[in-house]
Amino acid sequence: MKCFLAKPRGFCAGVERAILMVEKTIEKFGTPVYVRHEIVHNRFVVDGLRQIGAIFVEETWEVPEESVVVFSAHGVSKEVYEEAKSRRLKVIDATCPIVKSVHRSAIKYANSGYSVILIGRQGHAEIDGTLGQLSPGAMFLISSAEEVKSLPAMEKVAYLTQTTLSTEETSDIISALKERYPDIQGPKTGNVCYATANRQSAVRSICKNVDLLLVVGSRNSSNSNRLRELGEEQGVKSFLIDSVEDLTEDMFVNVNSVGISSGASAPEHLVLEIIEWLKEHFNLGDITEVQTVSEDTKFPLPTELER
Ligand code: SF4
Repeated sequence: MKCFLAKPRGFCAGVERAILMVEKTIEKFGTPVYVRHEIVHNRFVVDGLRQIGAIFVEETWEVPEESVVVFSAHGVSKEVYEEAKSRRLKVIDATCPIVKSVHRSAIKYANSGYSVILIGRQGHAEIDGTLGQLSPGAMFLISSAEEVKSLPAMEKVAYLTQTTLSTEETSDIISALKERYPDIQGPKTGNVCYATANRQSAVRSICKNVDLLLVVGSRNSSNSNRLRELGEEQGVKSFLIDSVEDLTEDMFVNVNSVGISSGASAPEHLVLEIIEWLKEHFNLGDITEVQTVSEDTKFPLPTELER
C-alpha cells in the first residue's frame, strides 16, 4: 500500500500560540489556571494541558472570582469580557490574531452604518464570539448560498466569514451575496485563514493519488471536518479520526493508496502513530509527502507572557 502525506497539515500558528499561552500562564501564575472552552478543538491537547494544571470550563461564571482565566483561540463575545471584568478575573486572551481581526472588522463596519452578514456555522465557538462583538441580533448569520434569498433588502451591507470554512463553499456564498447586494463590502475571498486554505489545497492535491483519505482531528474541529468533506467532494472515501484507536482493517478493503492529513488543532504525534499502525497491519510501501506550500507564519505572545 502507498501512503501520501499532505503538507501543510496539523498545528497552525494560532493553535501553537494558544497552547503555549496556557503553558506560560501556568508557569507564570501557578495552578490553578482556568481555560474557558477547549483551548483548541482537540482532546489530546486538552488532556495534556489538564495534566499540567489547566482546568477547563465552558462558562465564565464557573471560574472563581479573582482567578486567572485563559480565553480560547476561537475568541469570545464582548459579554464574556464584561463578565470576566465583573468577576475580577485576570484574563489571558489566546484568541487567534486572525479571529481578532475579524472582530475588529465587524465593529468597524457596524460603526460606519453597515449591516453585517456573517458567513459561518451556527453553534461554533468562533461564530458565537464574532456575533457577540455587536449587540444581540445585529449581525445576520448565514451558512449557505440558498439563505441569501431570505435576507432582507438592505442599503449598506458588508460581509465577514468564519476562518475555518471551505474556500469553495465560501466563494459560492460570497458570489450569491454580490449578486443580491452589488455594492456589498468585504474581504475578496472571505476571512478563511491561510492555515485552513493551505491544508485544503494540500488535501486536494493528494486526493488525485489516493483511494482513502484519513483526516486526523476531533469531531468538533471545524477545519478538520471541512478537510474530510473536501476528500468526499473529490470522490475519495474519507474518514475523520481522533487517533489510531479509530482505525480498523475493514476500512482498508480494496485500498491501494491512502492519504493522510490533520486539522489545524491536531498534534503531529497522532499522524506518526497512524503511520506506525499502517506499517504493522499492511505492507506499507513508499510514503510520499506532498507539499503544496511552505508555512512560516508565527504569532508573537503577548508581552506579559514573554520571557
Ligand atoms: S485555523 Fe486559522 S484562524 Fe484558526 S487558530 Fe489557526 S490560524 Fe487562527
